[in-house]
Amino acid sequence: MVDVLADRVAEMTADEAVRQYAEEAAEAAGLAPDVSRVLDSSYREITVQVPLRRDDGSLLVAHGYRVQHNGARGPYKGGLRYHPDADLSEVRALAALMTWKTALLDLPFGGAKGGLQVDPTELSARELQALTRRFAVSLSHVLGVYRDIPAPDVGTNAQVMAWFMDAYSSRHGYSPAAVTGKPIDLGGAPGREPATGRGLVYILEAFARRYGWDLEEARVVVQGFGNVGSWVARELDALGARVVGVSDVKGAMFNDGGLDVAELVRTVEAGGSVVDADVSYVSLAQDELLTLECDVLIPAALGQCITKANVDRVRAALILEGANHPVTPQADAVLAERGIPVIPDILANGGGVTGSYFEWAQNIQQFTWAETRFNAELRERLTRVFDEVTDYVERHLCTYRRASYAIALERVARAVRLRGYV
Ligand code: GLU
Repeated sequence: MVDVLADRVAEMTADEAVRQYAEEAAEAAGLAPDVSRVLDSSYREITVQVPLRRDDGSLLVAHGYRVQHNGARGPYKGGLRYHPDADLSEVRALAALMTWKTALLDLPFGGAKGGLQVDPTELSARELQALTRRFAVSLSHVLGVYRDIPAPDVGTNAQVMAWFMDAYSSRHGYSPAAVTGKPIDLGGAPGREPATGRGLVYILEAFARRYGWDLEEARVVVQGFGNVGSWVARELDALGARVVGVSDVKGAMFNDGGLDVAELVRTVEAGGSVVDADVSYVSLAQDELLTLECDVLIPAALGQCITKANVDRVRAALILEGANHPVTPQADAVLAERGIPVIPDILANGGGVTGSYFEWAQNIQQFTWAETRFNAELRERLTRVFDEVTDYVERHLCTYRRASYAIALERVARAVRLRGYV
């Protein structure tokens, strides 16, 4: 663990990593340097102070951020992360990723991200609500249905979006479309919450069809058991795949015969950790989980967990990025050399923001989706984008990441030029 942390410091920041991925793809795709220079930095970065009177009477002064990276293709779009590491550099990286993600998915949005540097697990429900309301009001002048639309991310959920939407609406009038990932009772779309996990499975199914893989009995390892990890595990289990390893912040576990996913989900829904579940397993160190031999490794927790310190020990046949930027550029180069395909975050976890697009459209049109239709549309869109990226990979003999960035960059560059920015 100490080695991994030391290595993170020695490699690059998330922001540098995402910029490097984009720069390399821009060069390979022959993008004009002037456009690249515009895309290399954010349009707007806001830092706000968010004070909170805690339940015990003490004062907490949290810092919050909203970074709007590029809005050439439409309103800024991206989640709100509540985490002690969600500093400006991290949020900046995540905002740029959203620009590439929405463009690759061909959604009419730009890219943004928000962060609040707190540990939400240490806050009471009253404290979390108060902090969220103040954060919403502090940012409200740069947000809006056609300006910038937040959504959940690590450390936030539908309840947080409900408070955020209410605080925003109290200033600007009823605006459900100004926030996505809301509870269904407040205009949320059925299917949005599982959409990132389901989307990962739709992409994996498309990969399996294209390369003749059988997902039944495929051995899968999922790092992280939050919204994304728990849903992908649940959906893969339903398909007959064998989920042999999972983890959360409290620990990692392994069972070669397959873990009892339903019981893990029940335990986590009741507020426990996967390691408390009444299932048969062997405990692992966090880093051991990432180096288990498996068909598919799905990092679905935080960024930069596959680094040059552990990449040589990775024994997966395929990596599907459920989290944002889980693989550092140095590790990515090693994986490419070793011939281990990596389906990048901006493609693999795109089900979340695509689901947000459906919710946004539903709120604007005052229309509601049936979940079956929502899922069918999600599957169709993600499969189409996967095929498009795979065609590019086969044509240019490059990685999925390079292909995904190249397609996204070309789209954003066209919009930037058409608007006359450069
Ligand atoms: N936070 C998710 C992501 O990183 C979803 C963003 C959204 O729905 O706007 O893609």
